[in-house]
Amino acid sequence: MNPAPVIVWFRRDLRLADNPALSAALATGAPLVLVFIDDRGTHDSAPLGAAASWWLHESIRSLSESIKMAGNRLILRKGHPYQVLNELITETGAQSVHWNRRYEPMVIRRDAEIKASLSKTGLAATSHNGSLLHEPWIVKNKSGNPFRVFTPYWRHCLTLPVSEPLPAPTHLKPIAKTLPSENLEDLRLQPTFGWDAGISAAWQPGESRAQEGLDLFLTKAFADYSTERDRPDQTGTSRLSPHLQFGEISPRQIRQGLQKHAQKLALPSSEWIGSQFLAELGWREFANHLLYHFPETVRHPLRAEFENFPWRSDPQALIAWQKGRTGYPIVDAGMRELWTTGWMHNRVRMITASFLVKDLLIDWRHGADWFMDTLVDADLAANTLGWQWTAGCGADAAPFFRIFNPTSQGERFDPDGDYVRRWVPELAKLPKRWIHQPWNAPAAVLQSAGIRPGQDYPEPIVSHAIARNVALEAFQKIKTRP
Ligand SMILES: Cc1cc2nc3c(=O)[nH]c(=O)nc-3n(C[C@H](O)[C@H](O)[C@H](O)COP(=O)(O)OP(=O)(O)OC[C@H]3O[C@@H](n4cnc5c(N)ncnc54)[C@H](O)[C@@H]3O)c2cc1C
Repeated sequence: MNPAPVIVWFRRDLRLADNPALSAALATGAPLVLVFIDDRGTHDSAPLGAAASWWLHESIRSLSESIKMAGNRLILRKGHPYQVLNELITETGAQSVHWNRRYEPMVIRRDAEIKASLSKTGLAATSHNGSLLHEPWIVKNKSGNPFRVFTPYWRHCLTLPVSEPLPAPTHLKPIAKTLPSENLEDLRLQPTFGWDAGISAAWQPGESRAQEGLDLFLTKAFADYSTERDRPDQTGTSRLSPHLQFGEISPRQIRQGLQKHAQKLALPSSEWIGSQFLAELGWREFANHLLYHFPETVRHPLRAEFENFPWRSDPQALIAWQKGRTGYPIVDAGMRELWTTGWMHNRVRMITASFLVKDLLIDWRHGADWFMDTLVDADLAANTLGWQWTAGCGADAAPFFRIFNPTSQGERFDPDGDYVRRWVPELAKLPKRWIHQPWNAPAAVLQSAGIRPGQDYPEPIVSHAIARNVALEAFQKIKTRP
């Protein structure tokens, strides 16, 4: 007798290689029912942002093609996952379901309910670790508590074993009947008007592209990563974040790629294990660790005194920030890069976030929401960590009183102004001396660069020097409050 089919529920693991849920299902030898469920609107999860929706569409398309090549078909369904899984169970006679875990608090709750309900009806529902090097509950400090500081967290992680990535299957045995499936286009993940042109031009989603991205990074940029990673005018980072976010590549695969690369060059193992790049993957792990143990941080500061921070309500300033019209070139360049390509360099994420929170005194949650909507790599864990870190209210955060000066940050990390010239073309003709502070440029320089302050490019919406003092006073108030 043929074994009953096994369902594999794809989520943020849109790949065939190193996919523990898929491998576990394959190991049964049973025919496979492979499904992606569009569950938007069926639970109180953070909504999928517009840029991430674009990525998801392309990623599903790519996965569908790979599955087809392996002899099976990706079924697309819409609705509450429990209902959809039950329908599939009825339609196919499947006896078990496998999926890879996610760590957003609301997804954890929902998955637990689904697992419990399926188990009650005699179904085996098994979840796996497909997206982290270490599960958040495995990593504990000496007192058995979660870590709140990155360095000891990562040092501890480096002592833990990491399993090898699983191979990509070549054949995915299908079931005998053809199941109904939505058309990808009918999921309406892509925007109905053309704002995504810049995103399409900048990215190629999919498992094979993710692997190519890793290979390219290792051969071209890894060696200089620790010095070039802070330069938005260079391609000094891997740009793997959206691929990781949708699970087109796993951190285990990246870790192994790094190891093989180091071995090929006969580098000592400390060169890759202790590398800044692996530590950045560690920040991703740490973000998930924090989100798992402190789920309230999505909406609340980890440091409780920040609940009383006197944020300003200034919708006009928020819009100027979102549109890249603050009058601070590095901030505007970053916000326009984000809007156009769905991505922003990490250093510039820190600068733009700091500007919103400390120069404009706008609540970090407004910034976090905007990033979640516009980033192709929008990730609740990393985004929450990044914003709370910048605002000084999270775990291991930059102290609030350390306030980035957007001018000196620009001059330091975009020394020739190339990044600004690319994203703020109205400043393209300004000489390097003034590119990060056009308001100080002599009238003749502005004139020959074709810039009329306030018309072609905004005057600064705040004076950084004054804003800095106001922010420090506001911080003093929450510090001294009983
Ligand atoms: C305010 C703010 C918001 C952020 N929001 C997100 C987000 O929504 N999604 C997201 O993936 N990253 C976020 N980050 C982290 C970081 O900016 C991006 O991961 C990084 O810019 C991605 O580029 P890369 O792939 O070239 O990174 P690389 O430098 O090549 O790093 C490799 C990988 O390590 C991880 N990583 C690197 N830096 C960090 C970090 N600081 N925190 C967590 N993981 C990191 C990413 O998965 C990244 O792909 C945010 C940072 C800040 C300051």
